[in-house]
Amino acid sequence: LLSLGVLIAALMIGLVVWVSRRRLSLRGELAIAVGRREFVVHYQPIIELKSGICVGAEALVRWRRPDGQMEQPDIFIPIAEESGLIKDITDQVIENVMKDLGGLLAADRSLHVAINLAAVDIHSGRVLQVIQRALAGTNVLAQQIWLEATERGFMDVTSASATIDEARRLGHSVAIDDFGTGYSSLQYLKDLPLDALKIDKSFVGTVGLDAATSSITPHIIDMAKTLDLLIVAEGIEQQRQADYLVEHGVQYGQGWFFSKPLAAADFAAFYHARQKE
Ligand code: C2E
Ligand code: CA
Ligand code: CA
Ligand code: CA
Repeated sequence: LLSLGVLIAALMIGLVVWVSRRRLSLRGELAIAVGRREFVVHYQPIIELKSGICVGAEALVRWRRPDGQMEQPDIFIPIAEESGLIKDITDQVIENVMKDLGGLLAADRSLHVAINLAAVDIHSGRVLQVIQRALAGTNVLAQQIWLEATERGFMDVTSASATIDEARRLGHSVAIDDFGTGYSSLQYLKDLPLDALKIDKSFVGTVGLDAATSSITPHIIDMAKTLDLLIVAEGIEQQRQADYLVEHGVQYGQGWFFSKPLAAADFAAFYHARQKE
């Protein structure tokens, strides 16, 4: 019995060591990837639910390794945040968006692109200068660049308010992302001058079904309306969900039902195909 305990303990220690080594090596690889600018951006269409028209896209980062392998953000964003590399990744995303869609954005003023910011980007506010610099010399308007961050970015209300105020003064819209999954204090939400709220896909997945969380979704929608926020629903995979959301007055949505995230050229084609007749 004792030796079994020892064996299990040894296995556990081995696992912990393996996981932390793996993280360390990923962190090292990530630093190199930042230096080599190995990040690309995919664009998931955002649809006006009532009309089916495409009004914009969410920029979603991917890490393309030299061998062509694509790493998804869930793997590397947490490590990038921990190590401080996220700032450089945010900068590269902004630069890529302008490079990929600058022409399209300048040609069509009703199109917007939403960029995901990390908590540290909201806290420091430095990212706003990076965006201004990227916009300078293009015809793209600041109004066309939307910013998203999760609740973690807005917890420190003082710094968050300062960044949101400045972003809005410049013309950007600001959305709270993944709403309902974090601590969700309604108080701070009320105190922040936000423009939009993104309903997390975990709440969209259950709408119209008889699950416990499906009863939360209408409350989130009501609350967003009370606070006068635009609503974007994410993770729409089925017609039933899109129908429910339209019926409940949700303006915008995204999800596989409409399109997966697309490479820039494919997004441009999707966008043109999904305009008013
Ligand atoms: P998010 O901001 O909530 O982005 C939505 C995620 O849901 C994306 O995953 C998207 O591909 C996925 N998704 C879209 N439609 C559907 C659907 O119908 N069903 C399902 N099951 N999933 C759907 P992705 O691209 O893997 O990104 C994961 C997360 O990584 C993002 O969640 C965001 O928090 C973070 N992230 C992505 N790009 C960036 C970035 O440029 N900067 C930062 N700081 N974070 C990013
Ligand atoms: Ca997002
Ligand atoms: Ca989200
Ligand atoms: Ca999410």
